[in-house]
Amino acid sequence: MTYFDAHSHRRSADPSTTTLVCVRITASTEIFETDGICTVGLHPWDVTEDWRDVVDIVEDLSQEDLVLGIGEVGIDRACDAPWQHQVDAFEYIADLAERVSKPLVIHCVKAHDELLRIRRFINPVQPWVLHGFVKGADLAKQCLDAGMYLSFGPALFKESASLIEALRLCPTDRLLIETDDEHVSISDVYTTVAKLRGVTTEELCAIQQQNFETVFKR
Ligand SMILES: [Zn+2]
Repeated sequence: MTYFDAHSHRRSADPSTTTLVCVRITASTEIFETDGICTVGLHPWDVTEDWRDVVDIVEDLSQEDLVLGIGEVGIDRACDAPWQHQVDAFEYIADLAERVSKPLVIHCVKAHDELLRIRRFINPVQPWVLHGFVKGADLAKQCLDAGMYLSFGPALFKESASLIEALRLCPTDRLLIETDDEHVSISDVYTTVAKLRGVTTEELCAIQQQNFETVFKR
């Protein structure tokens, strides 16, 4: 069995885990190094008025073989980065992802209305993965109806009824699983997801492999 971790900030040493590591690019990034498959992005927390310079670096790096996607990128109303620059940067990057034919891995906090608006406006062909989904069924439905993938992670351990409802209604072919920045084993997240969805871990692994290959072309 192989576990696919669709979004993490560190690579698992376990040979049965394929980790898609998220690399945050900032204005001070001088050297890009990766020990395996990754995504590169301008995190909304890192957005400044000079975001265009960083996005140019992201665009260059998007051509690297090991860069499978653009992210994490997005919008976050709960952080200090200037909101209008976050929106402008995200719209620009979402358009960039279309130009370079790479999927987007999205961080969205308290801004799903704006995310859905931008999605309607961009009307992307590339997959959009809403990572770290922690909301309830209503918002999950809106995002799924809009065509997004949802990625669930360690927040499931808290056994929130609304999040479990969202996990259960997510179609099999739109579901991804991640550890994000938490020190947990991806196999434990898989076990939890499998139990909550009433499937075996083996079935879940097979489906995740398909979804991972579909979204990230690997
Ligand atoms: Zn993250």
